[in-house]
Amino acid sequence: MSPSRRDFLKKSALIAAAGAAVSIIPGSAEGALHAFSAQDEFTLPPLAYAYDALEPHIDRMTMEIHHSKHHQAYVNNLNKAINEGSLETGTLDQLVAGISKYPMAVRNNGGGHWNHSFFWQLMRPGGGGAPSGKVAEAINQSFGSFDELKKQINEAGLKRFGSGWAWLVKNNDGKLVVGSTPNQDNPLMDVSDFKGTPILAIDVWEHAYYLKYQNKRADYLQAWWNVINWEKIAANL
Ligand code: MN
Repeated sequence: MSPSRRDFLKKSALIAAAGAAVSIIPGSAEGALHAFSAQDEFTLPPLAYAYDALEPHIDRMTMEIHHSKHHQAYVNNLNKAINEGSLETGTLDQLVAGISKYPMAVRNNGGGHWNHSFFWQLMRPGGGGAPSGKVAEAINQSFGSFDELKKQINEAGLKRFGSGWAWLVKNNDGKLVVGSTPNQDNPLMDVSDFKGTPILAIDVWEHAYYLKYQNKRADYLQAWWNVINWEKIAANL
């Protein structure tokens, strides 16, 4: 915890304790302290597999830099923005859902933290292949075939100019829909034009593929399907 964060929590706790004393409710000062100390810093989640586990489709160096440098930087900069603004955030999901209330640094880095935490779980060593069971049924119902879904997601990723993400989401009508978001925005954000519950996401920032695929984003997108974790997609559905 950074010093400014600690000072903020201490100050908040003192204010809360003072408020409780005035209201003369026995024991409530302690409750207020607990409520404030529950707001911890965000941390980098560990990967469930080794950096080289997705070779040859996603190379070791890309995974290492992507997770330990890029994702770590989103986490650090998110905490910094929250500390500097003395912001109340709640959980990462709550932060993202109400992102319009926060400064741009929180939107970019909070989105970066949410998106990457989600993305790592969608890949696994020995993944890939075609979906089966309920996932296959849901995909066939919405897209006609797995090939058509793949085509639409790859197109969404290719057409995203600059940096961003391609998504499969479940919308309010329970329908599966493909789309994309710029930068580190995501479909849970209140500011997003494309909304829904994320089922699948592919990072199309150059940092996700440039070391191995250089400018060939289409090749990266094709290769990505060889590491997809269908069990996680099923759980998201
Ligand atoms: Mn990324």
